[in-house]
Amino acid sequence: MEDKKIGLKSVPIVVSAPSGAGKTTLCKLIAQKYKKEIVYSISATTRKPRKNEKDGVNYYFLTEEKFKKWIDEGKFIEWAIVHNHYYGTPKKTFDETLKKGYNIIMDIDVQGGINIKKKYPDGIFIFLLTKTADILMKRLSNRKTDTKESIQKRIKNAQKEIQFIKEYDYTVINDTINKTLNTISAILIAESCLIKRNDLKIKSFKKNLKGK
Ligand code: 5GP
Repeated sequence: MEDKKIGLKSVPIVVSAPSGAGKTTLCKLIAQKYKKEIVYSISATTRKPRKNEKDGVNYYFLTEEKFKKWIDEGKFIEWAIVHNHYYGTPKKTFDETLKKGYNIIMDIDVQGGINIKKKYPDGIFIFLLTKTADILMKRLSNRKTDTKESIQKRIKNAQKEIQFIKEYDYTVINDTINKTLNTISAILIAESCLIKRNDLKIKSFKKNLKGK
């Protein structure tokens, strides 16, 4: 994929969605498209790895004991219980990524999204949907990675999560990957043009203008 630049610096980009809406794939594609500027946040979880998932690539797969120890040691910037398992964003990578000037894209649930918003109100908050609830159900059963019980839990959770959509700034329908990628790119580019994100550029222009 072609290297692209958007011009955002040190911004958390939160992507939440009902399970099955395709947010993990999308977040990874965005991080790949803008690899000079955006890092994908690898979460920790106590859920068991699915087929093809690798420790340290998809998640850090921890025992519940270890996860709780990390909570006690303050090793998470946010954590939550989702579908009866613990999930959390490791603080060290999060902090270091932003400190280096990179943006961090996070595929996290609404509890995590709301917690990040409290700490980083200037972050970018995107809620992904499918066109219809039927499409979501179809995607969940087609991916064959979840039991019937787990799918049911995920649908119930989606009903709860959608109540929090107003905490987010944007909603994007994940129709075809390319269209969604283009829409999210457009959001990020528009965000990079916000006056509040361009203090330095504006200051320098003003100074330059004064000297004329
Ligand atoms: P899955 O088990 O399908 O990979 O993820 C289940 C849910 O947990 C998804 O909604 C996903 O966004 C969320 N999730 C993944 N990582 C994190 C995290 O670090 N923090 C929070 N709060 N949610 C997460």
